[in-house]
Amino acid sequence: MKKFILLALIGISINNTMKAQVLKGSNWSAKKVDSTYIVSVQDKSSILDALTDFVVTQKIQAGQITGIGAVNEATLRFFNPETKKYVDKTFQEQMEVSNLSGNISEVEGKPMLHLHITLGKSDYTALAGHLLDAKIRGAGEFFIYPLDNHVVKVKNEAVGLNFYDFDK
Ligand code: FE
Repeated sequence: MKKFILLALIGISINNTMKAQVLKGSNWSAKKVDSTYIVSVQDKSSILDALTDFVVTQKIQAGQITGIGAVNEATLRFFNPETKKYVDKTFQEQMEVSNLSGNISEVEGKPMLHLHITLGKSDYTALAGHLLDAKIRGAGEFFIYPLDNHVVKVKNEAVGLNFYDFDK
């Protein structure tokens, strides 16, 4: 009987150790499964704010992000290489995030999320571009694949964009 209780206790403790811990932050919750983080961004919150809070609190310096969900506001920005300036445009309507893809790197010691998004409108046409920010309306489901190293980007003044600097 004692042996059985001991084995049961060992079983419970192994099970608890294997069970992934639920992580929580500012408008997000997450679970790490193997080496991947599954991140849920709360309804009515900013994708950029939530994912930035996630990578800062989890100390993720490099990696890949993918996501789907729905938003009711999105600001996209278009880079003009001639003027080296961005033109921002905000869309306020309910849209499906048919895909978000991006990467995490470090610029001037701070985490930088470079995100692109494809949004599906109610008439089934799509909007796409570089994502400045968007507000979740519905679900926000993201997978983050961290890398065990830091990857640095440096602003290239001649082009006007941040480029990878693999010597850093
Ligand atoms: Fe971009």
